Amino acid sequence: AKSYSRTNVVYYNKDVEHKVIEHKEFCQKFKNAIDKNEFYVLYQPKVYTKNNTLYGAEALVRWNNDGKVIYPGDFVEIFEKEHLISALDFYVLEQTCRDLRSWLDNGLEPVTVSVNFSNDHLGDDELVDRIIAIVDKYGIDHHLIEIEMTETVDVYEINRLLTYVNGLHKNGFTVAIDDFGIGYSSLLMLQNISVDVLKIDKAFIAELTGDAEKRENIILRHIINMAEELGVEIVAEGVETDEQRINLTDMHCHRIQGYFYDKPLFTDAFRLRLSAKTY
Ligand code: C2E
Ligand code: CA
Ligand code: CA
Ligand code: CA
Repeated sequence: AKSYSRTNVVYYNKDVEHKVIEHKEFCQKFKNAIDKNEFYVLYQPKVYTKNNTLYGAEALVRWNNDGKVIYPGDFVEIFEKEHLISALDFYVLEQTCRDLRSWLDNGLEPVTVSVNFSNDHLGDDELVDRIIAIVDKYGIDHHLIEIEMTETVDVYEINRLLTYVNGLHKNGFTVAIDDFGIGYSSLLMLQNISVDVLKIDKAFIAELTGDAEKRENIILRHIINMAEELGVEIVAEGVETDEQRINLTDMHCHRIQGYFYDKPLFTDAFRLRLSAKTY
């Protein structure tokens, strides 16, 4: 048994070594990929269900690596660890502003687009100024940009977040808390930070049924009511079925993002949505 476990240890180490090399190659690839414009942005519509209109969108990044599409689920975490994510987030913000500029120039009436900003930015004193510089470079009204950040556990980070939210508000941007409900400090954060939007994580939506007594539904209903009382806009993510949409409407949640309406769309497809506006 001893020699067996020793062999295992050796294999394990080799594995780790291999992973480290892979990891480094991956990060080098990233630096080249930014220069080669391999990242692109899709836009997923957000729909106001009371009148079935497009009222917003979320920018979601994709990586075209030699013709093979890589999804953020396969690189965002690594980029966060290596502190590469901030460069990518600014890249996505810039691409979003460029697209907004072109829609405006073509006479379309754009909607507010939200851009994901990793919590890895929380150490950056210049975050708000950097955002302003990019948005102003394209002459985009600040109210057309929303910043999505996730909840955080760390008290220090909550304070940083508070500073950013104030800075962003002062400059006319809106702020959304992403994946609301699955973190550890949701309520503490809400108590301290006046965000504009809560995005309910799709984990809650997946469990959604018409049964008002079901635990998951009770919690969801109360999150929605709480947001309403706090004057915070609430968006349900990951809505895939009409049943989910109807149940959300019953719970007074009227803002929806999900495959039920649209998947994340290429710029051209999204443009068509922008000119039609209604579903
Ligand atoms: P997220 O911010 O929670 O974005 C929503 C994710 O749910 C997206 O996955 C979207 O395609 C997916 N989705 C939308 N509707 C549905 C639905 O009806 N059903 C299901 N099953 N999924 C749906 P995506 O695009 O693969 O992005 C995954 C995550 O990667 C995002 O989750 C976000 O955390 C991160 N991400 C994406 N783009 C960026 C970025 O530019 N910067 C940073 N920092 N993170 C990003
Ligand atoms: Ca998001
Ligand atoms: Ca989310
Ligand atoms: Ca997220």
